Amino acid sequence: MNSYESTRNRNITAAPSEALIKGLAADGGLYVMRNLGEKKPDLHKILKKDYYGMAAEILNIFLPDYPSEEIDKAVKAAYSDKFDDKKIVPLKKVGDNFILELFHGPTSAFKDMALQILPHLLTKGKKLNGNKSETVILTATSGDTGKAALEGFKNVEGTKIIVFYPHNGVSKVQKAQMVTQEGSNVFVCGIDGNFDDAQTGVKKIFSDKRVTDILAEHNMEFSSANSINIGRLSPQVVYYFYAYKQLVDNGEITIGDKINFTVPTGNFGDILAGYYAKILGLPINRLICASNCNNVLFDFITSGTYNKNRFFEKTISPSMDILLSSNLERFLYYVSECNNDTVASLMNDVNKKGSYTVTEALQNSIEDILSAGWVSDSETKATIERYFRDYGYLADTHTGVALKVADEYKANTSDDSKSVVLSTASPFKFSASVYESIFEKYEADEFEIMQSLAEKTKCEIPIQLSELKSKQTRHNSVVDKDGMEAFVLKCLGI
Ligand SMILES: *Cc1c(COP(=O)(O)O)cnc(C)c1O
Repeated sequence: MNSYESTRNRNITAAPSEALIKGLAADGGLYVMRNLGEKKPDLHKILKKDYYGMAAEILNIFLPDYPSEEIDKAVKAAYSDKFDDKKIVPLKKVGDNFILELFHGPTSAFKDMALQILPHLLTKGKKLNGNKSETVILTATSGDTGKAALEGFKNVEGTKIIVFYPHNGVSKVQKAQMVTQEGSNVFVCGIDGNFDDAQTGVKKIFSDKRVTDILAEHNMEFSSANSINIGRLSPQVVYYFYAYKQLVDNGEITIGDKINFTVPTGNFGDILAGYYAKILGLPINRLICASNCNNVLFDFITSGTYNKNRFFEKTISPSMDILLSSNLERFLYYVSECNNDTVASLMNDVNKKGSYTVTEALQNSIEDILSAGWVSDSETKATIERYFRDYGYLADTHTGVALKVADEYKANTSDDSKSVVLSTASPFKFSASVYESIFEKYEADEFEIMQSLAEKTKCEIPIQLSELKSKQTRHNSVVDKDGMEAFVLKCLGI
């Protein structure tokens, strides 16, 4: 059942479980299903299901070689008691928008939606392929993804996870989240260097044959769990359906009405999942791509030229500070009607020159689906302040970007479809910027700012963030760049 192929070459195929284990196709392309949308869920039936039932039905479409009882088990293990809201992704009406909160998982950010389930899908996929080796996840993180991966993989049988972070390059809260990590199979290590150094070091270990041979001798193999994996993408399709369900249940729409989603975008994974939901028959009118001043996607969507040769800005919405949005490749594949040659040629251009331009016909197809907007840091802060003042709603910086873009879209068009805005992080994860948006600049310890933000806004800090300060440090290691390999081998006891 080779239902996946590379975006860049139709002849490079894989079974779903194999695509999930490998992550990336051999030619560097991303795995896609050519016939996606051939099998659509029955909208009336799926909208009656709870989150678990909905997730199982959608994952069965993306992972047809998995036995459905295994998918049921994975869904239950991932979402049943790890989220602090029984709706998993509650939808809140705030002014003219409906905010879909994706941050009720263990790390208070939306990466949990995928990383809570990926480890279960990965270990089951390996069993299906007769692969008995132990999976070693090796990750470099600039903060949030590493923590979400640690929480997802902790204590999952048959796996170990090792995370490297820049010792002086993450926030105090992010560092506390990682160094206090519990679990019998987790390892965390700071490096003397920046995020790029950490990432380069990890890539070097991955491709070092001597190291991979040693692992193989001990029946272990590396895996990366990164955001281009179909095991991260497909679970994100579910919450688009669940948002729609909540609008139907609350009488805001009737089944069949088209709605808009505004998505704060970085690597294009989250918004691509929305496009997948549309292909699967969810009535979506527009997908609105929201960026910060790293507005490479805005320029692409409005001009047809993608150009990553530009200055990289550090913003208050750091998870969207990205110049190369990897998952856009999948979108290009589908809008070009599954034309692998077109995708291969565009990706060749971006690898060689850092830019590409699509044909006018292709750009028109893109504009039929996507709208785009971008927001400066000062506009984001003003939006956070306004939403708090007008509605008492406390939004994080990434959500602030999306709210502003959604409101601008509404002001500039006659589109009166219901507007859902995806909220990707708890405001307390970015306390200093949120505090400064609403009150004044506050130079203090991050935990103190968090506390003060809670008191002044009367909003509650998620327990997993408030308890961090008093948690015991479990991971003290710091190594220099050249010590990363030795650290890995030591952790694995080989
Ligand atoms: C990762 C992330 C995003 C961007 O999501 P993509 O799938 O990369 O587009 C937005 N907000 C937060 C808080 C994130 O962690």
